[in-house]
Amino acid sequence: MSAEASPAARATALRRQLDAAAHAYYVLDRPTLSDAAYDQLFRELQALERDHPELADADSPTQRVGAAVGASHLAKHTHLVPMGSLDNAFDEAELAEWEGRLRKLTGDAVATAGYCCELKIDGAAISLTYRDGALVSAATRGNGSVGEEVTANVRTIPDIPRHLAGTGWPSLIELRGEVFMTFEGFERMNAERVRAGEPVFANPRNAAAGALRQKDPRETAKRPLRFFGYAFAVPGAAPLPFRSQWELLETLVAWGIPVAPARRHCASLEAVHDWARTLEREIRPTLPFAIDGGVVKVNALALQAELGVIGGRVPRWAIARKFAPDLAETTLLDIEVQVGRTGALTPRAVLAPVEVGGATITYATLHNFDLIAEKDLRLGDVVQVKRAGEVIPQVIGPVPERRTGTERTVSAPRRCPVCATPVVRDEAEVAISCPNVACPGRRLEALAHFTSREAMDIRGLSHQRLEQLIAAGLVTDVADLYALTAEQIGGLERFADRSAEQLVTAIAASKTQPLSRLLHALGIRHVGAESAKLLARAFGTMAALTAATVEQLEALHGVGRTMAEAVHAWGHDPVVRALLARLAQAGVRMDEPQAAVADGPFRGLKVVLTGTLPTLGRSEATALIEGAGGKVTSAVSKATDLVVAGEEAGSKLEKATALGIPVIDEPELLRRLGR
Ligand code: NAD
Repeated sequence: MSAEASPAARATALRRQLDAAAHAYYVLDRPTLSDAAYDQLFRELQALERDHPELADADSPTQRVGAAVGASHLAKHTHLVPMGSLDNAFDEAELAEWEGRLRKLTGDAVATAGYCCELKIDGAAISLTYRDGALVSAATRGNGSVGEEVTANVRTIPDIPRHLAGTGWPSLIELRGEVFMTFEGFERMNAERVRAGEPVFANPRNAAAGALRQKDPRETAKRPLRFFGYAFAVPGAAPLPFRSQWELLETLVAWGIPVAPARRHCASLEAVHDWARTLEREIRPTLPFAIDGGVVKVNALALQAELGVIGGRVPRWAIARKFAPDLAETTLLDIEVQVGRTGALTPRAVLAPVEVGGATITYATLHNFDLIAEKDLRLGDVVQVKRAGEVIPQVIGPVPERRTGTERTVSAPRRCPVCATPVVRDEAEVAISCPNVACPGRRLEALAHFTSREAMDIRGLSHQRLEQLIAAGLVTDVADLYALTAEQIGGLERFADRSAEQLVTAIAASKTQPLSRLLHALGIRHVGAESAKLLARAFGTMAALTAATVEQLEALHGVGRTMAEAVHAWGHDPVVRALLARLAQAGVRMDEPQAAVADGPFRGLKVVLTGTLPTLGRSEATALIEGAGGKVTSAVSKATDLVVAGEEAGSKLEKATALGIPVIDEPELLRRLGR
């Protein structure tokens, strides 16, 4: 940066820049800097303040936690015990320095107690207040002292128990942990936002933080949020039922709080280094959620208390071991357009190969053409790309300062790149698509999806082989696969007789896949693998499903109006009906093996839940009822056997009363369950 600027001017500039970035990151959930860039500026400011004590300022970002809590739709919540941040160690040397300081401060006591090493979940910190074991409030970290109250939203997160399990909890506790989103949930949510023309979230962390701060808890409930607990605070000097961080985590598990996997109790610094290496290289790439490092904590709580907190901001006894950034810069060489099975045309970035997050990447998702315009991406641009875990690499945006003037803007195609049909744009959605149902590009993707591992699982059919089958006129839709013979396939180039035989056998074997897989494989709009399971379990057969009314579909717990209408329209489409008939004719299974219905006091009963139950979450209550043989549906009808009503039960309760359906409350539900 500017070498000539005076230290005071530089400090002011850095503080301004960091404040603006923190506001974008914490308050708007739309970061403007990469974490690595932020950390670099933060460290520069720390060094400057250390070397020039006269520049000290209590308002500096280095002296604070998070960002100022401004006016918002959420109420303020004062934490009983403040929530801190963590100091960082970016490599083994920095971690060793930290350990050296602790040894000096405690004699060698830290070494004897060892370290509790945990994943550093990249989500949003949250504090949950439990009074006498019951969840009474939840708040974000905010500035560490005052956060925002998000209790109603947090109550929609199935991982967070309304009531602690087990015994031995102090009467008033603040339980701390991280609310996060899995990569899968994040991608699903972003795909939905793309369809709805809403801006996508940059990463799962921002998506989780945004979901937590929603105005309407029903919106939060739609976001796939998860939770891991890792800390615990009691006001005053109430005695704790454990003596080490390790025991604390085990106690949380016993109380029904999910705790992150892959933790390790390390007896030496060398063991901590070893754990961090394994974490970065082996564990991180397999995790279904984002971490930005590990956290190393002095294990003994007595030593933690002795070591205390620095400047009210970061504990001396813990440190974040951060990993190399999963962000890199490279050149955008081209933008390819892919045709999806529904006809949607999706742009994909072709990049100069670059190493990021432990892998070399050459492609990255761009979601849609509006986003390309919004980000002002041009061919030849130097772009920032990000890859975390199994997530498809993303283009964050261009680096405009690196432009040379030779970059070219790109516009959305007017014709399908495969069949040249003019594209259409659905007013309600931002995606453009190819309307030609016979488009070979669409056919290819539909077939690839049908045969994929999660669907009918037909091995030996790569994209290339499917293309060959289509080109040879042997296959135009999925039913044609079942009519293929080994002779036909063997006659194609690069197909040995043996592989032709194997393929025919694999196709035949797929006929026995259950209805749930077939439904997923057929690619009904708005129906993913999980919803397909739900529908198959509920209706049992394809005939029953295609005969269902929108109301019957919607009455299913987990099926909304959009999905119900899509399934209904699909089942009444003559083209679909003809395809299903041909599949059935070929011997493809059209039903779902019924799991033995759980036996219990609710066997065969259709139950509806309404209102807020005092201690049980909705998913908890559903699991208990289904475990006892019952079925939970969402709408009250004459077929309903029982209604469980909690606080603020509305129209469902009225309807149940009008229809004379028995209504019970939670204590009665628990009594009938024998709890
Ligand atoms: P942090 O994220 O580096 O570390 C502290 C947080 O870690 C805690 O608040 C807690 O939420 C979390 N955590 C996860 N797992 C944990 C575990 N097992 N035990 C304890 N804590 C755990 O600190 P921070 O103060 O939240 O944020 C600072 C960081 O945020 C920066 O280093 C930077 O990477 C990022 N940031 C980025 C921008 C940006 O513009 N990109 C702006 C502000 C902050």
